[in-house]
Amino acid sequence: MILIDGKKVAAEIREELKKEVSDLKSKTNKVPGLTVVLIGDMAPSQIYVRMKEKAANEVGLKSEVIRYPDSAEEKTVLEKIDELNKDKSVSGILVQLPLPKHIDKQKVIEAISPTKDVDGFHPANVGNLSSGYESIVPCTPLGCYLLIKKLEKNLSGKKAVIVGRSNLNGKPMAQLLLKENCTVTITHSKTKDLKDECLEADIIVAAVGIPELVKGDWVKKDAIVIDVGINKTDKGIVGDVAFDEVSKVAKALTPVPGGVGPMTIACLLKNTIECFKKAH
Ligand code: NAD
Repeated sequence: MILIDGKKVAAEIREELKKEVSDLKSKTNKVPGLTVVLIGDMAPSQIYVRMKEKAANEVGLKSEVIRYPDSAEEKTVLEKIDELNKDKSVSGILVQLPLPKHIDKQKVIEAISPTKDVDGFHPANVGNLSSGYESIVPCTPLGCYLLIKKLEKNLSGKKAVIVGRSNLNGKPMAQLLLKENCTVTITHSKTKDLKDECLEADIIVAAVGIPELVKGDWVKKDAIVIDVGINKTDKGIVGDVAFDEVSKVAKALTPVPGGVGPMTIACLLKNTIECFKKAH
C-alpha cells in the first residue's frame, strides 16, 4: 500500500512557490498579498488562520489578518471586502468560515472579487469550474486532485466515487475528476447502498465528517482512497476512512493527519500566487 504523504508533497509545492515568489519579486518589485478576514474567536478558525498566515509568510507572501469580534456587523465586513477588492497590494482575499449567524455567508462570498477569491467559492468561479473553463479551484479538492494526479497521470475512464456533496469539497472534487474524464458518482446522506457504490470505485474521495465511515470491505482492491475528513474523537483526530482496515486493501491511501490537510494550505498559497500573476 502506498501511504500518500501529503505533508511531503505540500512541502515540495511550498518550496517551488517560494522560488516563484522570489522570481516574481525580482521581476515586478512586488510580492503577492493574502488577506484573511477572521470574524469571532472560534478556536478552530483561530488555529486555521494562524497556520495560513505562517505558511504565507514562509513562502514570502505579504500576509495580513483582519480580525473582527463576533458582534461585527455584516455591513462592516462587506465594506472591508470592498476596500480589499480595490487594494492593488491584495492579491487574494479569504474570509474564514464559519461566520457568525447574523452574517449572510453567501453575501460575503459574492462580495469578494472573483479575481481575488482564493477559496474559489464565488459563483463565477464555481460556474467556470463546472463549465470546464479556467477558474480558481477550492483549495481542499485542488489538493486532493494534485495528490491523485501525482499517483496516476491518466485518469480517463476511471470510476470515481465522491462521498459527500458539499460546495466546499464534494462538488468541486467531482468537477475536477470529470474534467479528467473519470466517470463520477457523487454520493450523500440520502444515497442508498453507499457501500455498493464505493465498491465500484477506482478512486474514492471521502469528505463527510463522519469518523471512519468508509470501511475496509467497502473498498475495491487497488483503489486510490483520499480521506478529507478531520474528526475529533476520544482516540484523537481521525478521518472519514477506517485507516487500519482500508490500508489492507487499497492501492494508496492518505493518512489523517498528514494527508489532505497540508495540501489545502499549499493550494491556498498557490491560488494567491495565480491571482497575483493574472493581475500583473
Ligand atoms: P459538510 O458537512 O459540508 O458536508 C458533508 C457531506 O457529507 C454532505 O454533503 C452530506 O450529504 C454528506 N453525508 C453526510 N452523512 C453521510 C452519509 N452517512 N453517507 C454519505 N454522505 C453523507 O462537510 P465538509 O465541509 O465537506 O467537510 C467534510 C469533512 O472534511 C469534515 O470532517 C471536515 O472537517 C473535513 N475538511 C477537511 C479539510 C482539509 O483540509 N483536510 C478541509 C475542509 C473540510
